[in-house]
Amino acid sequence: MTYVITKACVATCDTACVSACPVDCIVGPVPLDELRSVPIADRPQRFPGLQMFIDPDACIDCNSCMDECPVAAIYPEDSLPTEYKGDLARNAEFFRRARSA
Ligand code: SF4
Ligand code: SF4
Repeated sequence: MTYVITKACVATCDTACVSACPVDCIVGPVPLDELRSVPIADRPQRFPGLQMFIDPDACIDCNSCMDECPVAAIYPEDSLPTEYKGDLARNAEFFRRARSA
């Protein structure tokens, strides 16, 4: 199994989950240092549509990230609400592209 970050992350993307993950498997399309150099309130305008993603091959299902998320954007794969089912595939696609780049 893996945990999945859904579209609910967009417009918040505060990276709290990144700090909570013991295996550093949460990343995004913008380098973490660059992202964190921008105030959270300014991120939606500076990085439209930005969200973080969980590497399904590295996630150890520890649950640490879920409680840290201020907008409840993170779910275990097998508990994804219907409206977020497509996020599992988007997440996998992010890592497929990253690995083939
Ligand atoms: S469940 Fe644990 S290992 Fe998986 S992304 Fe969240 S903090 Fe990281
Ligand atoms: S804690 Fe939630 S809102 Fe913040 S980056 Fe992680 S998934 Fe996105």
